[in-house]
Amino acid sequence: MKNNKLIRCPICEAVNQDSGKAIICRRCEEHIYPEKTVSYNRAIAFLVTAMILYLPANLYPILITKQLGVVHESTILGGIMLLWQSGSYPVAIIILVASVFVPILKFIFIIYLLISTKYNIKSSNMDKHKLFYITEAIGSWSMIDVFVVTILSVLIHFTAVKIIPGAGATAFALMVFFTMLSAHAFDTRLLKK
Ligand SMILES: [Zn+2]
Repeated sequence: MKNNKLIRCPICEAVNQDSGKAIICRRCEEHIYPEKTVSYNRAIAFLVTAMILYLPANLYPILITKQLGVVHESTILGGIMLLWQSGSYPVAIIILVASVFVPILKFIFIIYLLISTKYNIKSSNMDKHKLFYITEAIGSWSMIDVFVVTILSVLIHFTAVKIIPGAGATAFALMVFFTMLSAHAFDTRLLKK
């Protein structure tokens, strides 16, 4: 079955037989890497980038407030604690879930999908597809933190308090972006094998 597959050379567009491993184009003698390997490696690279960015996103201040010359910096967790202490429990819980738990959950989902594809773990394809769509669906929700900072900085710009997004906000936005890239690079065709 596998020997009957055809693969296109990305350099000269010639159609070659997919022998399964180490394919060299019959016309231009260039190495052809199956699309699977390429998108798989791309998904890993984006995921690793996102996981590294998770650290500065949580360690650096996401919000810098300036009030009458007093500068106050707060990280995601610091902001959540402040919100909790001021009695804004629903907002504190939403931000805790969206910016602390959701990214970790997405990392775990993508790692699971990558491992189960690599080692062909025999869970049903239905489950993997479901997991993939859950990962995609919750993706935009983890941006809620950046939305909050943006809205706050616009709203409170007119009063005495000045709100500036900190380095953590940039790292956070980039982390969400790279997680989304990783999920997109992860071709759903990989799941079918
Ligand atoms: Zn070629």
